[in-house]
Amino acid sequence: MSDRFLYEGKTKIVEISEDGQNVILTFKDDITAGDGAKHDVMSSKGLFCSEITARLMQYLNTKGVNTMFLNYLPPNKIRAKKLKMIPLEVIVRFKKAGSFVRRYGGTEGEDLPSPLVEFTYKSDVMHDPLVCVEHLEVMGIVNKSIAEKIIEEAKKTAMLLKEFFSLHTFELWDIKFEYGVDEDGNICLGDEISPDTMRLRKSGEIFDKDIYRRDLGNPMEKYEVVLNICRSILL
Ligand code: 5GP
Repeated sequence: MSDRFLYEGKTKIVEISEDGQNVILTFKDDITAGDGAKHDVMSSKGLFCSEITARLMQYLNTKGVNTMFLNYLPPNKIRAKKLKMIPLEVIVRFKKAGSFVRRYGGTEGEDLPSPLVEFTYKSDVMHDPLVCVEHLEVMGIVNKSIAEKIIEEAKKTAMLLKEFFSLHTFELWDIKFEYGVDEDGNICLGDEISPDTMRLRKSGEIFDKDIYRRDLGNPMEKYEVVLNICRSILL
C-alpha cells in the first residue's frame, strides 16, 4: 500500500497527490446498495462515475459553487482539494421517491411543493439515520449556522443541476451531496455526483442506481447515456 494512502470506501480510494498539495480520488468499478449488503463489480463504472462527477463539478464551479474538483485524470481519477469531510449525507428532493415514500407515504414521482433538504448521519452500521438540525449541534457535527449554510448551498446546487438536466429533457428527482471544509475554512462540495447519487428519469425511464437496487437490468448502459449528456460540459 502506498504511503500516500488515506482511505478506501465502498466505491472510491483517496490518496494524497504526489506533490502533497491535493488528493487523488480513484473511482472503483464497485457498485453497492443497502449499506453495502448488495455488491457487484461492473466494468467501466469507475470511468463513468469519475468523468460524470468531473464534468458536473466543473459546471458547478463555473456557476460559482465551491466544489472539490480540480482536474479529471482519465480514465477513473480526479484531482481534488483536500477536505475535512463532514459525516453527513445531504439529500435534496424535488419529487417523492425512495426512503421519503417509505417513511411518509405518497406516490413515487409526485412533486413536492418546494425543494426539501434532509440530513442523514453517515454510518452503515446505523443505516444512515435521519437527523434534524438540532441533532447536528448536539452531536457535535456542525453548528446551526453551518447547517443553514449547507441547506442553502445544497438547494442552490441541486437547482443548477436540475436546470442542466432539464435542458437535456431529463428530470432530476433527488440528489445526495457530501460536504467538507476546505483549507480556507469554507464549506466545499466533495465526494461524487453521478447516477449513483441521484434519481434521474426521462419519460418514466430510470437512468440511476435504482436500476441496480431493483434488479432492472444493466445500469451501465444508462450511466453511459448520462455521461454523453455531461460531455457537453467542457473540461
Ligand atoms: P433515498 O433516501 O430516497 O434512498 O435516497 C435519496 C437520494 O439520495 C437518491 O438519489 C439516492 O441515490 C441518494 N442516496 C441516499 N443515500 C445514499 C447512499 O448511501 N449512497 C449513495 N450513493 N446515494 C445515496
